[in-house]
Amino acid sequence: MIKINSKAAQIINDLWEAVDAPAISNILKDQLNKYWPDAHLPVPEVRIASHTKLGHLAHMVASVSKDLANVHRGQTFFKYNIKYYMEVERAAMADEETLKRVLAHEMIHYFLYNQLTPEELYNWGTSQKSMSPTMKWQNGHGPDFQKEMQRINTIEGREYVTLKATGEFKLEGKEYFLLIQPLPRLNTMGWTWAVRPSEQQKMEIVKRIEKDQAKLFRSKDPKWLKGIQPKPWGGASYAKNIDAAQELKRIYNSEQEVQI
Ligand SMILES: [Zn+2]
Repeated sequence: MIKINSKAAQIINDLWEAVDAPAISNILKDQLNKYWPDAHLPVPEVRIASHTKLGHLAHMVASVSKDLANVHRGQTFFKYNIKYYMEVERAAMADEETLKRVLAHEMIHYFLYNQLTPEELYNWGTSQKSMSPTMKWQNGHGPDFQKEMQRINTIEGREYVTLKATGEFKLEGKEYFLLIQPLPRLNTMGWTWAVRPSEQQKMEIVKRIEKDQAKLFRSKDPKWLKGIQPKPWGGASYAKNIDAAQELKRIYNSEQEVQI
């Protein structure tokens, strides 16, 4: 995905919390060393996103701005600034193998972006009719992309990287912890989730069980992965419609609780 900056877009980008995600950065570093050892590309920044719709699991974003550098003898010169970041949905972290495959796909985009000059990248971005993240642009998965894809699949195995949109990867069947708690002030139920809770998350889960009447379950339902993970003072995601609220209530009242 390419983003051409307007001022507003820049402000939104900056507001986006840059989360420290060392595990993902390490995967990206390994992939760069393994697939493109001679390219010497820096590891792109990682940003964790939690969108309500699971349209995609990760995006390589190239954010390009064009500024006037100077005017010399009637000629105008521009300065281009590119910022790359890998946007990863929290839900993608539910399964490491899926995560690595999705990241490898996005890193091909990153490698190919870096084959262009900043000016070419900017012009290519602005020439695209749609800036939507549907990944259907002509250049997006063209011959260059497929060449890199086949090269990686020679190393990792057939269909490790595919052309399909990353949103098509299914996370169904992966089990994780689901913590459900009543949210009396909102008069609804809230939840958080974790795959392999860190020590800090374990302490937070225990605290919520003791103080907030939270109950812990195991779930395979991918929809709760859209929510947030437990952290001190981090709150909980809450059911925004009656169906979700009722389902959380049903699980809370009837299913078997588990120990962490
Ligand atoms: Zn793609």
